[in-house]
Amino acid sequence: MTDPKQRLDVLRADIERRNPAQPEFHQAVREVLDTLAPVFAARPEYAEAGLVERLVEPERQIIFRVPWTDDRGRVHVNRGYRVEFNSALGPYKGGLRFHPSVDIGVVKFLGFEQIFKNALTGLGIGGGKGGSDFDPHGRSDAEVMRFCQSFMTELYRHIGEHTDVPAGDIGVGGREIGYLFGQYRRITNRWEAGVLTGKGQGWGGSEIRPEATGYGSVLFAGEMLAVKGVSLDGLTAVVSGSGNVALYTVEKLQQLGANPLTCSDSQGYVVDDKGIDLALLRQIKEVERGRVSEYAARRGPSARFVPGGRVWEVPADVAFPSATQNELGADDARALIANGVKAVSEGANMPTTPEAVHLFQAAGVAFGPGKAANAGGVAVSALEMSQNAGRSAWSRDRVEDELAGIMREIHRVAYETAARYDAPGDYVTGANIAGFERVADAMLAQGVI
Ligand code: GLU
Repeated sequence: MTDPKQRLDVLRADIERRNPAQPEFHQAVREVLDTLAPVFAARPEYAEAGLVERLVEPERQIIFRVPWTDDRGRVHVNRGYRVEFNSALGPYKGGLRFHPSVDIGVVKFLGFEQIFKNALTGLGIGGGKGGSDFDPHGRSDAEVMRFCQSFMTELYRHIGEHTDVPAGDIGVGGREIGYLFGQYRRITNRWEAGVLTGKGQGWGGSEIRPEATGYGSVLFAGEMLAVKGVSLDGLTAVVSGSGNVALYTVEKLQQLGANPLTCSDSQGYVVDDKGIDLALLRQIKEVERGRVSEYAARRGPSARFVPGGRVWEVPADVAFPSATQNELGADDARALIANGVKAVSEGANMPTTPEAVHLFQAAGVAFGPGKAANAGGVAVSALEMSQNAGRSAWSRDRVEDELAGIMREIHRVAYETAARYDAPGDYVTGANIAGFERVADAMLAQGVI
């Protein structure tokens, strides 16, 4: 079997058979394999080294029990995960997600994406991901702390600054990283700042880390638009989600003169004709840990809450899916295209379904896949690791300049790689191939392991 396309199809079927009931993982693998046939045609040594076969199999998968006690004294048992996917380029790196939807398939999809995303940053980090089906919503700080302590009581033996460096993701922010770090320090008796990123400023955290994913996603959109001779200044935007990524997407859009009109959560969305009032949204989300419906209630007549709706029905020039996987489907894409959307930048991981991606590309909409567009978060995590290793703290301006440079470079590499493989303007192909080549070359050099 020498035809690379046929070979990849067989491999795909085999992966789906060997990893049953993991639809998100299948989707993430399929999306990458669909773009790799030309690489295999050009580089037969990759096939000979069994590279894809090794790449789709995590180096290590850890699943563990996380028992904890709630404020009323009731015992709960959650499941903890860490998938250490690939360390050819550096220590495993990737966030922890605490959400009821987390299972091994979700963690594997996220870990698989992370390999290529991290490679694209050029910063020497491998790919991993973890989390739990624990739901922090409605839990007290004390409950979250006890959960984090129990989670770390198993996780600590698998991580380390040169081994595996977790960070945040959905449901894991500064509060959780603090509790996790405290428990790691207590168990190991080590001040090992580089074991986790997303730490608080003043105890090893980096400037701009909370902002980095959202800022980076907007900068990536700016780069895509610049190719078309368009600037973000004066454009309207739809943003989904209301977590860390969405909030700082809104902030950077406003700094660049664009007008973000929406935000959302699992109950519905808010559209604000005057543009999102970021101070109010931050107060509700970050301080009160409330719902976006409260934003509409408090903002006044310019804003309304649409229960159960999706932001994609709101007309805008650019779209930023920044909530979760598969939140933007074919019908949503059709609505955005009909309303004249110019660019879509994925702040979340795999928020756009494959069908929707194809619709955008066929309509000539610039589409920035998460592996490239949301790499700013993990890139600043890697800068946090550098600061920790050097026992130094860089200025806000320095980190922000570095982030801008990294996003520009990721855009350039994805754009040029797409052109080199006869897919001009196709950032999905460009990002997948560019990320893959970096990991594949390192794996080739390091032998069959
Ligand atoms: N969870 C983020 C991501 O999806 C950041 C991971 C990190 O900083 O390690 O890339």
